[in-house]
Amino acid sequence: MTITLRFHGDLPALLRRPWRHHSLLRLPTSRTASIKDVVEAFGLPHTEVGRLLVDQQEVPFDHLISSSCQIKIWPIRPPWNIREPSLLRPHPLPGPRFLVDINVSKVGRLLRMAGFDAVTHPRWPDSKLADCAVTEKRLLLTKDRALLMRRQIEFGRLIRAIEPTTQLQEVINLLALHHQLHPLSRCLICNSPLEPVAKKEIRHLLEPLTRKYYQEFSRCPGCGKIYWPGTHVAKMLALLPGPENRAEQENERTRMPNQE
Ligand SMILES: [Zn+2]
Repeated sequence: MTITLRFHGDLPALLRRPWRHHSLLRLPTSRTASIKDVVEAFGLPHTEVGRLLVDQQEVPFDHLISSSCQIKIWPIRPPWNIREPSLLRPHPLPGPRFLVDINVSKVGRLLRMAGFDAVTHPRWPDSKLADCAVTEKRLLLTKDRALLMRRQIEFGRLIRAIEPTTQLQEVINLLALHHQLHPLSRCLICNSPLEPVAKKEIRHLLEPLTRKYYQEFSRCPGCGKIYWPGTHVAKMLALLPGPENRAEQENERTRMPNQE
């Protein structure tokens, strides 16, 4: 039998060599396999797939391919609503919560800076990370394809961008999170939500100039780190997507071709 695969959107760029940048592929085979395994044989993790058609019929990842057919594969397109169940992802997430792999850990810090729940476990093996993504209902961000190919992962993203700030844009655009930013509401180190604290309670911990010029403080209940709106905050806020970027992203979106 021969399986014909057509990869849409940016998916051809994600295929492993020698198939990279080929949108139409033919696979002669004699064995029955799930469509997840067929797609991943070309190096594309199933987490990147937003829609699958086999001979014009929508199918889930465990659909078995046992005869010649035509498969069409689309990427997940923004705005990705992770709260809605779908044929490919029947167990939706409660909201934008992230598990950030060590290979993109800087975007984890930026996400926490923007106020999102984003955990990193630098020393954990892949099996434990995959379990954490499922049990804590987190979207896994990584550059590790093998990790994303684990069957139990429904929500993941193979991060495309190289620079951490561009990676942050990538995640915010994908999930359309522009209106959910709460900068400096979460500890950059340990991810706990910050709590306001009276200056008199912590003044003995402050440097003289900080004590002199700042009046409002918050404290992390997890690790005790103290935060205040100093000059470093303006620098951090400049890294977050602003309204001009949003206008550009809207244009990008309207320029994208239709799915069919
Ligand atoms: Zn903390």
